[in-house]
Formats: sequence, structure tokens, C-alpha cells
Amino acid sequence: MNLKAKAVYLEGIRQFAIREIDIPKPGPGEVLIRVKAVGICGSDVHYYEYGRIGKFVVEFPMILGHEAAGEIVQVGEGVTSLKVGDRVAMEPGIPCGKCRYCKTGRYNLCPDIKFWATPPVNGAFVEYVTHPADFCFKLPSNVSFEEGAMFEPLAVGLWAVEKANLRPEHSVAILGVGTIGMMTLQSVFAVGISDVTVFDTSSHKLNVAEKMGAKVVLCGENLEFYDKYRDRFDVVFETAGSSVTASQTAKLLAPGGTVVLVGLPSEDAVPINLNLLISKEATIKTVFRYANMYPRALELVSKGKIKLSHLISKRFRIDQLQEAFEYTIHNKDKVIKTMIVI
Ligand SMILES: [Zn+2]
Ligand SMILES: [Zn+2]
Repeated sequence: MNLKAKAVYLEGIRQFAIREIDIPKPGPGEVLIRVKAVGICGSDVHYYEYGRIGKFVVEFPMILGHEAAGEIVQVGEGVTSLKVGDRVAMEPGIPCGKCRYCKTGRYNLCPDIKFWATPPVNGAFVEYVTHPADFCFKLPSNVSFEEGAMFEPLAVGLWAVEKANLRPEHSVAILGVGTIGMMTLQSVFAVGISDVTVFDTSSHKLNVAEKMGAKVVLCGENLEFYDKYRDRFDVVFETAGSSVTASQTAKLLAPGGTVVLVGLPSEDAVPINLNLLISKEATIKTVFRYANMYPRALELVSKGKIKLSHLISKRFRIDQLQEAFEYTIHNKDKVIKTMIVI
């Protein structure tokens, strides 16, 4: 095996460079993976454009990418669950396993979690990467590497639905149909809900959602637009991460309903009508990443209950990473998922 591999480093704002790195060796309990597909996430684009998200500041150079799948080429000591040649999706967050959050199954809240492409942890825009076998999920032959890479955003959608306590008779609104909105939409359908309305400003994305079976609403310019949908939805998912849509959740919600906040707005403070929420005795849930959702993603995708490939807008090679990011930034209205194929 060639002992050097390519890695793409973010070296400054909007500036990638390919470097040669040593192929890492898998430690005990780890596997070495030849990376095959990595999706570009909104968070990757944000780091690329601004060098930070909230308290997480990039220290250049850094490797981005956390939505990945690949093939095992070497197994470390003590690994029995996987073997060379297995195709796997990698869950990108490695929690400590010892703290009270880890021990109670809420490892997404682990203060010591090492999550790919969240500073200072490097990510997966590389040819080879090591990872704990416990966080690698074997793909059946009918699931592609690209689909495996998309388990990551799908896990967020599944976790959002897990939090919502949906019932078959519920009417659901999803505000924003970017990748996470699309994943939430499919996760809602997968639990048997049929009455789903999605809101977005992109007619292209709404067309895709409509083909998947959603009712669609092209958002208007001003806030009065949302008055038409007052008190309409039992569950409102905010996936756009927009302060505009987040501020409208109280209005759209039916009395007794649940708001699930999934998107991270860029502002810390967002105006939400608390009086209205309290008078509706609303339940408010928030979602940060996910825990234990990869097995469910695997199950639903391998059985064909959730489809992912049609959400890939364009594919690029790893040596075209800069082009891929620029394309994603300049086509925000059209792009649902940009995929890097290695
Ligand atoms: Zn992601
Ligand atoms: Zn922990």
C-alpha cells in the first residue's frame, strides 16, 4: 500500500490546499478506512466562508467534512465486528463514554466528544482515516457509499422526529427544506404521518419536496404572510436556522402543539412570542446532533423506506473541493447536497 495519502486542508477563509499526509495506523479498537464519499454540510460551508460557528473557531490548517462512508482496509487490535473489505458509514462524533451524558444515552451532549470537522478536530476530506469500529456501521450491498455518507444528516432528521412524539393524526409543518428539512420530511413520512406542509423560499427545493409527497408553501416576503397559517399545525419543525421562521413558530402552532427547533440561527437571540406559546400550552423541544440514530438510518434506507440519492445535486472529486464549495455557495437556492466522491 502507498504510505502517503491526500488530505484537503482549509488554510484560510475560502482557501483549500491539498497536502500529502502519512496514512494513519488503526489503534486498538479502530479501523483504517479508505474514504469513498463525503457530503458537504452547511456547517462545512460556514467554516469555509467565515472560519467560525459561534464559539467554534477554526485554527488553520484544518480538514473539514463529517458526513462520510468508505471501505475498511485494515483493522486494529481487538476489532472483531468488522473486517477488511466491509463498506461502512462512519458516525462522526466520538464521545468519552464515561460522563453522565454518555452513560444515560445522551452522548450527543458529552462535553468531551470529538466530532469530525468541529474545531480543533480534523474531518474526513481525506483519502484514508482511522475511526473506532464501534462508530462504523456496515452497509448492506443495496446501500451505496453516497447514501451511507448521508446517514449523518438523516440522523438529525430522525432525532428531531424522535423528540416530537408524533401521532398519525397530527398535521406537521417543516420550515425550510435544505438537507436537514428534507431529512426531517422523510423521517416524518417514515413514521406514518401524511399531512406535512413544508415552507421555503426556493421553488426548486419545494418541487423536490412536493414530489416526495409534501404540501408546499413558497414563503412570502413579510411576516404577515404567515398569518394565513395561524394555529394550523400540531408539530412545527424549524430546520432553516432562520430567525424569521423561528419567530413564526408560535403563530403557526395549534394549541397543545410541539415546536421542535432543529436549525441553528446565526444570531444568539431570536424574538419568539412567549405569551402566545404559553397561552397555547406549547411544548418546546430542541435538537443538537443525535444519539443512537445510525442503526435506524441503516434500517430505513436499506428497506427503501427512506430514499437519499435523489437529494444529491452535484458530485465533485476531492481535488475539486474548492470548486465544490464555491458551487454550493453560489447555488444555495438549488443545492440540497453536494457530494465529494473519492
Ligand atoms: Zn452535517
Ligand atoms: Zn461523555
